[in-house]
Amino acid sequence: MFETVIGLEVHVQLNTKTKLFCSCATSFNHKQNTNTCPTCLALPGALPVLNKEVLHKSVMLGTALEATINQVSYFDRKSYFYPDSPSAYQITQLYTPVVEHGKLRIDFEDGSHKTIRINRAHIEADAGKNIHEGDISKVDLNRAGTPLLEIVSEPDMRNSEEVILYLKKLHSIIRYLDIGDANMQEGSFRVDVNVSIRPKGDEKLYTRVEIKNINSFKFIQKAIELEVARQSEAWEDGVYDKEICQETRLFDQTKQETRSMRGKEEAADYRYFPEPDLLKAVVTDAMMTEFSVIPELPDQKMTRFVSEYGMNEYSASVLTSSVEMAHYFEAMMACGISAKNALTWLTTELQGRLKGEMNITNSPVDAEKLGFLVKRIEDGTISGKAAKDVLDYLMENDSDVDSVIEKLGLKQVSDTGAIEAICDAVIAANPDKAEEYRSGKDKLFGFFVGQVMKESKGSANPQTVNELLKAKLG
Ligand code: ADP
Ligand code: MG
Ligand code: ZN
Repeated sequence: MFETVIGLEVHVQLNTKTKLFCSCATSFNHKQNTNTCPTCLALPGALPVLNKEVLHKSVMLGTALEATINQVSYFDRKSYFYPDSPSAYQITQLYTPVVEHGKLRIDFEDGSHKTIRINRAHIEADAGKNIHEGDISKVDLNRAGTPLLEIVSEPDMRNSEEVILYLKKLHSIIRYLDIGDANMQEGSFRVDVNVSIRPKGDEKLYTRVEIKNINSFKFIQKAIELEVARQSEAWEDGVYDKEICQETRLFDQTKQETRSMRGKEEAADYRYFPEPDLLKAVVTDAMMTEFSVIPELPDQKMTRFVSEYGMNEYSASVLTSSVEMAHYFEAMMACGISAKNALTWLTTELQGRLKGEMNITNSPVDAEKLGFLVKRIEDGTISGKAAKDVLDYLMENDSDVDSVIEKLGLKQVSDTGAIEAICDAVIAANPDKAEEYRSGKDKLFGFFVGQVMKESKGSANPQTVNELLKAKLG
């Protein structure tokens, strides 16, 4: 029997305002080759200067991963020739990265968990983009020199479930820290998967294959499955040594196969050497104090939601699954409403109405508005049913809660006199039913409540209706 061994390298684009070593903007919607300067074009004589914001975000991530922060780290040159890299080398951190020896906890559905060790996170510069159009290829260097953090795990994962849990957790941490967009489709969270197999019980690591740039969780799962099958078949057929070699493979989603892209270069092929144009990167003690302040992370927030609001773990995990969702919920809570109502109105009522391109971030009803709507239910101004009409209206029209309640005439009547009159009328109109109720048919109570609510067009306060009917029907 075989065991699968997986280690991940994740390239995260940091959302700094400017590039890693120059002051060019990092935004990508600009015309091609406009966010460039002599430094990121690698013109002779131009010198790189380290962007402090990159160190800041690296230290934040290191803190979140409970890692060692190297207060002095160094840059190295990695040589390779490719049209999207005008310098023909990449500046990276090989020998002393800024972050080392961290850990990340993944939680399984059955409540158990596992710690995946992080080998390192190092700073490096991104390349430009090659654009292939028919017979010609073009190069856009807007992205060249954009800061990346490459986060390298130890080979601690044993199946694709663990891989997906690891990636989701890492993704969520990056979003909570707000150090990157981490958008897989747009390439700001790029995953390389290293896969090998070994006989169960064997401690030794066997030959690994690196599968590059797979841009969805579904494809990552598939690629692992295919690669494990290929390696185990080779083993069983006695051709493992011949067929499995350390190389970079590509996942082809249409053919559903992995295939060789290039033989894996040995470190020597890259001719690494210390970058002569840059000083060492220093995080002073004062910077450490400042940079290691990080917001509450998903795990902590979840634990706090459970203890502070008395909700179950499942609800807490739904609310903390994305930073946007968690912030939305917390902003609703700032309206002074119950957690239970906030949870329902956010996850059932609002989310049920977010269709198509709409999501929690661009929702036409923001957290303050939804929180206030719930407040209007809790203070008895409107019924829960009326609140749904208000929300429907607000999804389509820009207005405020109280104006909509007014406009749609949904204000709940708590005035006993008015409700009493309706109760009397309903009882008078149904003398048989009133008699049946009085002679013990308790179920009919609901009928009377329903009639009164209907007569009042849903505006009567249900509690008042209940009390009055009880008194009148005896
Ligand atoms: P390189 O820098 O050449 O890509 P590393 O030794 O830094 O190589 O490893 C890169 C990734 O491969 C790491 O995430 C590591 O955990 C993983 N890895 C190393 N050996 C194996 C193996 N035998 N099987 C699976 N993954 C491995
Ligand atoms: Mg690598
Ligand atoms: Zn530049």
